[in-house]
Amino acid sequence: MISEQLKAEANHNKQDFAVETHLSYAQQNNSAWMTYLAQIERVKPFLGDLTQYIDTLKNPKRALIVDVPVVMDDGSIRHFEGYRVQHNLSRGPGKGGIRFHPNVDLNEVMALSAWMTIKTAVLNLPFGGAKGGIRVDPRQLSDAELERLTRRYTSEVSHIIGPQKDIPAPDVGTNPRVMAWVMDTYSIEQGHTVTGVVTGKPVHLGGSLGRVKATGRGVFVTGCQIAQKIGLPIAGSRVAVQGFGNVGSEAAILFAETGAKVVCVQDHTGTIFNEAGLNTQALQQHVQQHGGVAGFADATEIEAEAFWDVQAEILIPAALEGQITAERAEKLQARLVLEGANGPTYPEADDILHRRGVIVVPDVICNAGGVTVSYFEWVQDMSSFFWSETEINQRLDTIMRDAVADVWNKAQEKNCNLRTSAYILACERILMARKERGIYPGK
Ligand code: GLU
Repeated sequence: MISEQLKAEANHNKQDFAVETHLSYAQQNNSAWMTYLAQIERVKPFLGDLTQYIDTLKNPKRALIVDVPVVMDDGSIRHFEGYRVQHNLSRGPGKGGIRFHPNVDLNEVMALSAWMTIKTAVLNLPFGGAKGGIRVDPRQLSDAELERLTRRYTSEVSHIIGPQKDIPAPDVGTNPRVMAWVMDTYSIEQGHTVTGVVTGKPVHLGGSLGRVKATGRGVFVTGCQIAQKIGLPIAGSRVAVQGFGNVGSEAAILFAETGAKVVCVQDHTGTIFNEAGLNTQALQQHVQQHGGVAGFADATEIEAEAFWDVQAEILIPAALEGQITAERAEKLQARLVLEGANGPTYPEADDILHRRGVIVVPDVICNAGGVTVSYFEWVQDMSSFFWSETEINQRLDTIMRDAVADVWNKAQEKNCNLRTSAYILACERILMARKERGIYPGK
């Protein structure tokens, strides 16, 4: 029998452990989770009575770490670490992508899930925020290994996902094909086809028209709207893009079609420059064939760090988090930064850019086109009634334009930057839901 003293000690240790774990993630310098916490601190003074509930946003509701054993093609077994974090479910089921990348860890997935909570709330979509991932370099795996990895991961997280619980989607390193495996694995485990468990699926499996291009399109739509507010014409503007995957390439193509010159593109294979403007369509094909921008004809290769000195009015970070440091923020030439990536700007850099008059359209609104069409996909799956691409794009543009207008007006009213104004709108919605739902069990 356990003595009362031992029980008390165990309880005490358990609490300490929770606090320490939380702190150790928060204190990892420059970590994504720390960036998120700093952003939350900045919104606090604007929340009035709702500030009393702010700790809800500093504590992810649920975090699952899973071991994913995979039989490799040579017969050996490798173990990968996978995650699914549901940051907040106050406003609806969790929503957010699955990332396959060698740098994925709990800290990163926690931050990415929290940014989804804010993002769905800014857009007023009926979702909470979640994110998943596996620490793996998908480029190193064969197609068959990737399929086994995805299916085993899905099976491991299947008890916490579902169309009414938490709906994954693509993110860095995943795509519609991976989503098809997630849908199939979950469906087989349930005993019937459940299309609404995941979004970003291939169109013939219940995917939505317009989903693949939606994130890049949203970057373009929000970018044009804010450019107009600050009197920056798109035609003739120079654009620099970091990351030429699904998001960066689509945004670059749309800007080029509107008369902007995409002068510099950087990805993990190199940094290419052409003062006259790169042919973005040809570059997209080159990347699809060669896996990166390096070696693209009709451009000069420059040093990676020189990317941040390029003369361009519009900068689109569309790769990973933690790219715009304080040092880079001091020297950036851009007037407008469009965050296609999640979390590319450090909080100190945000302050510097604000002081320098550089407008940042924050990730939680700028790249929200993807999750908005994910919402449409989920609605279409639930009703088994599918919309045309024109209808989808029109609805997407309307939702995004209205949200950007609200974020812009709130920033004027509160005299703050667009990130803080987006957080004010989102946190009010989330914390109001939190307040109205109350705490149960536990009361
Ligand atoms: N991974 C994307 C994002 O960061 C899309 C998420 C979704 O569609 O649920 O917003």
